[in-house]
Amino acid sequence: MSIRVLPADVAAKIAAGEVVERPASVVKELVENAVDAGAKSIHVEAQQGGKRLIRVMDDGSGIPTAEVPLAFARHATSKLMSVEDLSHITTLGFRGEALASMAAVSNLTLVSRPVAQETATRIRLEGGQQISLGSAGAPAGTMVAVENLFYNVPARLKFLKADATEAGHIQRIVSHYALAFPHIRFTLQSDQRTTFQTNGSGELFDALVAMFGLETARQMLVANGRDTRSGVVVSGYVGSPSLHRGTRDQIIFFVNRRWIQDRSLNQAAIQAYHTFLPVRRYPIVVLNVEVDPAEVDINVHPTKAEIKFRDQRVIFRVVQKATREAVLGAAPIPSYGIPAPSSGEDFGEHADHSSWWQPSLARPGSFGQRGESSFGQFGLEAQRTAPFSQNDSSSPLLAAPARPGKMPPLRVVGQIRQMYIVTEGPDGLYLIDQHAAHERILYEKLMAQKAQAAVASQQLLEPVMVELPPGYAAIVEAELEALTEVGFELEAFGGTAYSGTAYRIRAVPEMLAQADPGRALVDILAEMADGAIPLARETHEKIAITVCKRASIKGGQVLTHEEMRELVRQLEATRAPRTCPHGRPTMIHLSAAQLAREFGRI
Ligand code: ADP
Ligand code: MG
Repeated sequence: MSIRVLPADVAAKIAAGEVVERPASVVKELVENAVDAGAKSIHVEAQQGGKRLIRVMDDGSGIPTAEVPLAFARHATSKLMSVEDLSHITTLGFRGEALASMAAVSNLTLVSRPVAQETATRIRLEGGQQISLGSAGAPAGTMVAVENLFYNVPARLKFLKADATEAGHIQRIVSHYALAFPHIRFTLQSDQRTTFQTNGSGELFDALVAMFGLETARQMLVANGRDTRSGVVVSGYVGSPSLHRGTRDQIIFFVNRRWIQDRSLNQAAIQAYHTFLPVRRYPIVVLNVEVDPAEVDINVHPTKAEIKFRDQRVIFRVVQKATREAVLGAAPIPSYGIPAPSSGEDFGEHADHSSWWQPSLARPGSFGQRGESSFGQFGLEAQRTAPFSQNDSSSPLLAAPARPGKMPPLRVVGQIRQMYIVTEGPDGLYLIDQHAAHERILYEKLMAQKAQAAVASQQLLEPVMVELPPGYAAIVEAELEALTEVGFELEAFGGTAYSGTAYRIRAVPEMLAQADPGRALVDILAEMADGAIPLARETHEKIAITVCKRASIKGGQVLTHEEMRELVRQLEATRAPRTCPHGRPTMIHLSAAQLAREFGRI
């Protein structure tokens, strides 16, 4: 074939494909336009997952009659004048492509009326061709209906998924915008059914309830942070550690209220939960990053879902710190909240904890703090009362046991199963897992020593030889520095008959001084090889966690009263007494009210 210029309609369809990938992309563009138009209320309708029809209505500024046809020209926008403007974009749209793109691949009707105009303008396009233009009666604002999306692009049509899947994508878009703009009332109707709705109160918390449900929203914590030098401000809510999910889907970031996907920000949030979440579980995070628009490039991709920061590190740091502080302040003590299962009170180590305890909902402070939130930049901070706090304190089940992040003072009663320490606190019974608690203590001790480069190491009188199989030897080789950092002194000695390597152990971490050095090292390497450390991003931390696990008191070890008191005292002194470094709880709470209920006293 010889080279020739593509016919205009083919070029338009190709270009449209960049912006409009699926029905949800249409919803995204139309909602963005409505937000940019200053709408207070945005109504979205979809039929058959948006394949049949997508309709978005807003009560925003509207488009003057004279400009309506122009809005469908490619690169026609009212939001950008010059290249310089690109560096301080404050609107969601600016490329002037969306309406043209959607019109090229559907049958589109737009009806729009600015408040100052008597009548609305109605325009109809099919496959990008203007079919009609006239006036109509309509309320102020804009309505866009996109019918039969991709009817003229069979290749795209083929790739659309089942109606329910496409409807799910639409719901995701609408709910995310609702989080970003809590002062706008959103409704979504899918095949005549209202599937999502917010009240536009301006309270992010209300939007959280709409998205996650009340139960979950109540376990979200206010997160705030700023970097004064760069002016970066982070605000929003993060889930308490008890709210983990199997995927990263609910780690949601906005930058200047634009919903974006950014691996590095996700990572910052995940790391903030380090040692608080079980293996391969992810937190819920809803955070907005306010940053000088000149510091970000949103013009990286036609859908604007990815952006570039000029200084990624600052933002990473502020996000991580804000999240970490919220989480540290509120790691809950799981409380015995629901009746024991019929199988009886199996408090044994094989009991499935999740089935018989649920995390305490009572975290004084976390609800009250909501008032300080968030997204306030846009002048939305209404005076907030904490609507749930009253509820909470009146419910005996939810009586507040402890200050957030801290432990209540505990009196040791005794030990059961050579595994759990029974203690009494201001509000009932606290059961402490002696192993998990000791792990937390040792871990924080070791981290503190490492921070001061003063890890205690114990020289062995006689070096001990161990022979390591190839897999383990490889770990030692790769992580020798980290192993040395925690107190090991190892020296390769030579090959072994089975192609492993022999090592001489000259020193061990002091906390392992009592252990058989060879076995301790092998145990730690086994744990490393197993890879079951949660979310630990740095090998040296994995090693630290493993060393602490090896060194800590085990189940089956009888403790004296004095030892138990000392353990509890040291646990109190830790920064995060409520979880072990693996993210499991160190203690479980059975409140006085719960006890009374179980015994039929109330
Ligand atoms: P962009 O949003 O990038 O400017 P679009 O193609 O989405 O490009 O829209 C083109 C123009 O049409 C916008 O700049 C705006 O002036 C106008 N417009 C589109 N949708 C609306 C709406 N819902 N309310 C008011 N004006 C709108
Ligand atoms: Mg737009």
